Amino acid sequence: MTYVRAIDPLPLESPDHTKLHEFYAKLADGRLTTTACAGCRRTAWPPRGFCPDCGSDRFEWVDLPREGTIHAFTIQEAGLPAGFAAPRVFAIVSVGSHRIFSIVSGADAGQVAVGQRVTFQPLRVADGPKESPRWLVGFTLSEGKA
Ligand SMILES: [Zn+2]
Repeated sequence: MTYVRAIDPLPLESPDHTKLHEFYAKLADGRLTTTACAGCRRTAWPPRGFCPDCGSDRFEWVDLPREGTIHAFTIQEAGLPAGFAAPRVFAIVSVGSHRIFSIVSGADAGQVAVGQRVTFQPLRVADGPKESPRWLVGFTLSEGKA
């Protein structure tokens, strides 16, 4: 299939497109990670190749907790990009000290609530250029309620 960037709303994840490509490779391996500044140890979300606190551009990858809590959410029922079924739950998920904007998959939209526990579950999305597989951060509702 021909890749058409003009209608592609997803990140370009390959080493050709981002110095943070390892983030996506780790997503594909089932790991939720972010950058930790090699200078001052500050962690960032989203991952950053440059530290706004100390100015360093050296960083390493650290794993984040796989469990989080829904801080806020919204449900989109129409106008979703091609390949995304409605309704779609978008949430801000508290993970450790970070708040991560994400998709909550497999949830009955009427059952989602602030404070619910969610579990990291990377989301496979449409291929990128050169038919490279792509992944986004995603969560599912955890078993039981918070
Ligand atoms: Zn720093």
